[in-house]
Amino acid sequence: METIHAQGAEIPALGLGTWQLTGQACRETVSTALELGYRHVDTAQAYGNERQVGAGIEDADVDRDDIFLVTKLDVRNRTAERVRRSARESLEKLGTDYLDLLLIHQPNIPFLASLDETLDAMNDLVDEGVVRHIGVSNFPTGMLGRARETSVAPILTDQVQYHPYWDQRKLLTYCQIHDVLLTAYSPLARGGVLDDPVLVTVGNRYGKSPAQVALRWLVQQEGVVTVPKASSRAHLEENLAVFDFELTDEEMARIRNPDRVKTGLHFLRSQLPF
Ligand code: NAP
Repeated sequence: METIHAQGAEIPALGLGTWQLTGQACRETVSTALELGYRHVDTAQAYGNERQVGAGIEDADVDRDDIFLVTKLDVRNRTAERVRRSARESLEKLGTDYLDLLLIHQPNIPFLASLDETLDAMNDLVDEGVVRHIGVSNFPTGMLGRARETSVAPILTDQVQYHPYWDQRKLLTYCQIHDVLLTAYSPLARGGVLDDPVLVTVGNRYGKSPAQVALRWLVQQEGVVTVPKASSRAHLEENLAVFDFELTDEEMARIRNPDRVKTGLHFLRSQLPF
């Protein structure tokens, strides 16, 4: 597994997303992924699966210290007291005594808690050694800048939607200048990229699937890591096999330039509640 270095941290470039994985299936998927070589696992308080993720880690024959484990603060847990309490609950559910990365899942609802209060409480957790790194998610560039100015501990990453149908050039440029990682979520556009003609054509040149080309396109960009979700062993294996080929500059540019109709359709589909 290739790793990326940023701000003193070493992070596996590709991790396992666990949104919508629940129960025994979640436990088995996490354990299988770790056995296949995944070393980066992404969960969230809001996913309701931290206990199953922890059980999957416990089942796998992999040292906790070799895993980069990420969770995210639910939108209701942003006051100092709730940051502290919910982080402790996450640790208990995950069966660990530290988190590699704790993220603010999405911008705060201002009347519930200020960004400063949340970040101060997260910094306290870093000082206490129960959280190694902190970061944000779904923060636009300006808000990421404010978080960086406010926090004493560095903001390691902004986890945002990023795939060939979702442009993030402005945010990525900012991240690259300031040594902040961009973690790409929904890297397969929740399955939307799988029949993309450009990805199919490029993939045929390398004997790779459209999913593999989409993931390669992400991890080949400076400062980008990604967390595809997969539940079958075949998909888990396939998604890991993206470090043995390299896209040309021309292919990178072609993939970055998606069909506007597809971008629009993906956006509309992502707004649907099913
Ligand atoms: P995604 O990773 O873009 O797509 C997942 C879908 O693609 C699943 O249906 C999966 O099917 C399928 N798939 C995976 N690998 C495949 C392959 N090789 N070939 C064909 N199909 C494949 O979508 P996502 O779950 O939205 O995003 C990934 C992760 O990002 C989440 O799980 C979560 O950890 C994170 N996320 C974060 C936020 C946030 O607000 N911070 C929001 C959304 C997501 P199977 O399950 O059947 O394998």
